[in-house]
Amino acid sequence: MMPRLATQFDAGLASDVVNFIFEGDNFSATRPLFAGKCLAKVEIQGPKPHFVSVRPNALGMPESPAGGSAEAAEASVDAGNIRAAIKEIIASASEKADLTEANIIISGGRAMKNSENFSILHECAEVIGATVGASRAAVDSGYASPDMQVGQTGKTVSPSLYIACGISGAIQHLAGMRTSKVIVAINSDPDAPIFTKADYGIVGDLFKIVPILTEELKKIQG
Ligand SMILES: Cc1cc2nc3c(=O)[nH]c(=O)nc-3n(C[C@H](O)[C@H](O)[C@H](O)COP(=O)(O)OP(=O)(O)OC[C@H]3O[C@@H](n4cnc5c(N)ncnc54)[C@H](O)[C@@H]3O)c2cc1C
Repeated sequence: MMPRLATQFDAGLASDVVNFIFEGDNFSATRPLFAGKCLAKVEIQGPKPHFVSVRPNALGMPESPAGGSAEAAEASVDAGNIRAAIKEIIASASEKADLTEANIIISGGRAMKNSENFSILHECAEVIGATVGASRAAVDSGYASPDMQVGQTGKTVSPSLYIACGISGAIQHLAGMRTSKVIVAINSDPDAPIFTKADYGIVGDLFKIVPILTEELKKIQG
C-alpha cells in the first residue's frame, strides 16, 4: 500500500526503518541493509507528505500524556476507481500473538530434533505468555511450521525478550531477531556464535535447562 500511495502523491518513501527524525520538512531515517550487517541513512527531500513504514516493534510506544484529538476529513472517492477491495479479514487460527507482534518469543533450532520436542518450548511459552518461533533449519527439517521461522527469509521480530534454544546464531537467523531488546541463548556449545549477540547465555543441554526454566518461571508467576 505504501509504495502505491507514495506514487500517487509523487512523494518519497522510506520502508522498514528502525528510527527516524523530522527537522522541518526534512526527514531522515535509519534502515538496515544486507540482513542487518550495515545501516543506511535515508533521507526524503521535498515537501510533505512523506511515506514511512517502520519495522514492527522497532520503536517503543511512548506513554501518551493525555488523550489527543484528531480532525476527521471526508474523502470523496469514485467507487468506479477502486480496483482492490478487502473481501474478508480472517483471524489467525492461533490464540497466540503473531511472531511479529509478540512481546516474548522462545525459539527452537535444529537441536530440537523433532516436532514433538517443541512441546517443551510451548510449555514454557504458556507460562510466560510467549510465542514459539524456530530457525530455518528446524522448519526445513519439518520440526516447525514455516510461519514460525525467524530470520532473513522468515519473520523479522523485535520482542522485549528472545530466548534462542539450540540455535547456533547464523547471520541469517540474527538478521531476523538481533534487534530484540534482551536476548537469552541456551546452547551446548560455548563457542556458538549466538553467544556473541546474547545478553544472557546458558551453556548446556536445552532438554535439561528449558524444563527447569519453566518450573522456576512457574514459581515466580505463582
Ligand atoms: C539465503 C539463506 C537464507 C536463510 N534464511 C534463514 C532464516 O530466515 N532463518 C534462519 O534461522 N536461518 C536461515 N538460513 C539458514 C542459516 O544459515 C542456518 O543454517 C540456520 O539458521 C541454522 O539453524 P540452527 O541454528 O537451528 O541449526 P544449527 O546451525 O545446526 O545449530 C544447532 C545448534 O544447536 C546446538 N545444540 C545441539 N544440541 C543441543 C542441545 N541438546 N542443547 C542445546 N544446544 C544444542 C548446537 O551447538 C548448535 O549451535 C538461511 C540461509 C540462507 C543461505
